[in-house]
Amino acid sequence: MYATNYSINIRYVIKYIIFTLIMAIKVGRWDCVQCGYVGIKGPNTHCDKCGAARPENVVFYLADDSEIVKDSGKIKDAKSGADWVCSFCSGHNKVSDNICQSCGNDRDKTDGDESLKEKIHLFNKKPKKEKKSLKLSKGFKRVLWGFIAFIVLFAILAQFTTDINVAVIGFKWERSLEIEENRKVVEDDWQIPQGGEKIDSYRAVHHYNQIEDGTETVTRTIQKQVGTEQVKIGEKDLGNGYFEDIYEEQPVYEDVDETYEATKYKQIPVYKTKYKYSVFRWKDAGKLNASDTNKPAYWPKDERLENENTFRIKKRNEKYYITIKSDDKTYTEEVKLELWNNTNIADTLIAQESSVFGTFLGLKPIMQN
Ligand SMILES: [Zn+2]
Ligand SMILES: [Zn+2]
Repeated sequence: MYATNYSINIRYVIKYIIFTLIMAIKVGRWDCVQCGYVGIKGPNTHCDKCGAARPENVVFYLADDSEIVKDSGKIKDAKSGADWVCSFCSGHNKVSDNICQSCGNDRDKTDGDESLKEKIHLFNKKPKKEKKSLKLSKGFKRVLWGFIAFIVLFAILAQFTTDINVAVIGFKWERSLEIEENRKVVEDDWQIPQGGEKIDSYRAVHHYNQIEDGTETVTRTIQKQVGTEQVKIGEKDLGNGYFEDIYEEQPVYEDVDETYEATKYKQIPVYKTKYKYSVFRWKDAGKLNASDTNKPAYWPKDERLENENTFRIKKRNEKYYITIKSDDKTYTEEVKLELWNNTNIADTLIAQESSVFGTFLGLKPIMQN
C-alpha cells in the first residue's frame, strides 16, 4: 500500500517538474499610440520614448525573438496575475502595487483589470486550406458579359422570321433495306438449342468453387500508441506584459508490424459437358439501296428476298427531299412522304428567312403537317 502511494507521488512530482520546466514565460511587447514607438517591453507601464502611460485597451504581442524569462522574481511577477487599471486615472499597475503608480490613489474595489484579463490564443491545429476560386479580372468579366449579352441579343433577333414563296424545281428520294440471312453457324454452349445439330462434346470448366485451404501468417502494419508528448498548442497573454506557452499532452504513434493467422482459400474448378453444334441463326446480310430524282419512289428489289425462309427484311429506311429555288439560290430540304407525294414541279411552297439577317431558314414548319 505504502509503496504504491509513494510511487504515484513520485511520478506526479516528476511530471509536475517537467511540466513546469517547459511552460516557458516570455516577455511580450506593446506599441505606443501616442508617439508611434513600437516594441516596448510588455511589463513596462510607460512608453520608453515619450513616457505616455500604457493605454487601457493595450494589445500585447509576442515578437519572433521574444526572450524567455529565467529570473525567478520576474517569473513570480508574471504568474501573479493580470495588471489592474486605476479607476481614477486609467493608469496600469502591478498586482503587487497597492497604490496607483500614476496618480497615487489607493487601490479599491472600483479598480479593475477587465481590459487586462488573461487571454488564451490557440494555434490553428489545421491550417485552413485556401479555397480555390476562379478569380477573373474586371476586364475579362466585362468582355465575358459583353459576349453573353451578344449571344442573347443574337438569339432574340433570330426569332424574327419572314415568309417567302419558293418554287419547287426538283425531287430526290433514298430508300434502303437492311436484310438478314438465315445462315448455318457453329456455336458452343452447355446445352444444344432447339434445331441444333450436335457436332462434338467435351469437358470444360463451368465455374470455380472456393474452399478453405488452411491458414497463413500475414503481417500488417498498424499504428500503435507508444506514449505521449507535450505539444505547444498556443500562448496565454497573462495581461501584464508576459506570455506563457500552453502545452497539451498528445499521443505519439508508431508503425508496428503485427502478424496474424488468415484463412487461405483455394479455387476448385467444376467441370461439365459442353457441346459444339451447328444451328441456323438470322445474321446480317448487308443493305440494299435505291435512290433517284424521279417519282415514284420504290423499294430496292432482290430475288433472294423471295425465299422467306432464307432472307428477310430487318429494317426499312427512307428519306425524301424537295429542291426549291429562292432568289437564284437552290436549297434541298428533307420533307415528309405526304408533302413529297403531293408536290409537283413548279408548285409554290412557303419558306422562312430571318427578318434581321436575311438567312434562309428552310420550309415553314406548317408545310410539313
Ligand atoms: Zn510613446
Ligand atoms: Zn491612478
